[in-house]
Amino acid sequence: MREAVEQLLLPAECLLCRALLSFRDSARLVCDVCRHRWRPVRAPWCPRCGQPEPLFGACRLCAEWPAAFGRARSAVWLDGGARDAVHALKYGGLPRIATDLAAAMVGLDVPGLDSGLLVPVPLGRARLRNRGYNQSERLARALGRRWGRPVVDLLVRTRDTAAQTALTPEARLANVAGAFEMRNAECGMRNEGRPKSALERPLVLVDDVFTTGATLAEAARALDQAGARTVSAVTFGRAVVPDFT
Ligand SMILES: [Zn+2]
Ligand SMILES: [Zn+2]
Repeated sequence: MREAVEQLLLPAECLLCRALLSFRDSARLVCDVCRHRWRPVRAPWCPRCGQPEPLFGACRLCAEWPAAFGRARSAVWLDGGARDAVHALKYGGLPRIATDLAAAMVGLDVPGLDSGLLVPVPLGRARLRNRGYNQSERLARALGRRWGRPVVDLLVRTRDTAAQTALTPEARLANVAGAFEMRNAECGMRNEGRPKSALERPLVLVDDVFTTGATLAEAARALDQAGARTVSAVTFGRAVVPDFT
């Protein structure tokens, strides 16, 4: 309802460049030109975490990931308009932009998608209350519609973690340690049976941004410990991180 009203009140112009949107695109928030400016993350990359590989030695980013967490992929680099789009999703009160972001993620390649379930990375209670929605859940639902895959809220966040800005990969891991656990109620499981059977399906974590992968690794750890067989992750943006090696 709120989204329908928002759509009527907002002029049909691109959120990023203010160009008028064509009638065909009027349900979107970002125009074609701006979407094409987003820089896709491309191979060569670490086959596991999808980060450009270091010149020497093994990838440090995914070395400590739990065994079940096999692959993470991101659609675009988080700069320019892509950063503005994520900002609108997270802080601009514009969850509708999830549709635009999900459109950029449709081509991401993760294993077992034909039988997989999408699992949004949950927000802490305080943040959920302030924002009114979980941006990762909105993204997962938009992507689930494109992929024809169900979304299941398998995880809960046990505490609100400090903002992750300017932390090294190790500090980020410590910051989110133990932040997630399996939801014990059978919420969001309407057609997918019990959480136990969901764990036998390929699980795809969905989040807005991949920075060092610490949050996703911790969410995957909770699924791994609960007995998940295959966990992968997709995000819209990938932070252009400094070289920690
Ligand atoms: Zn535009
Ligand atoms: Zn890696």
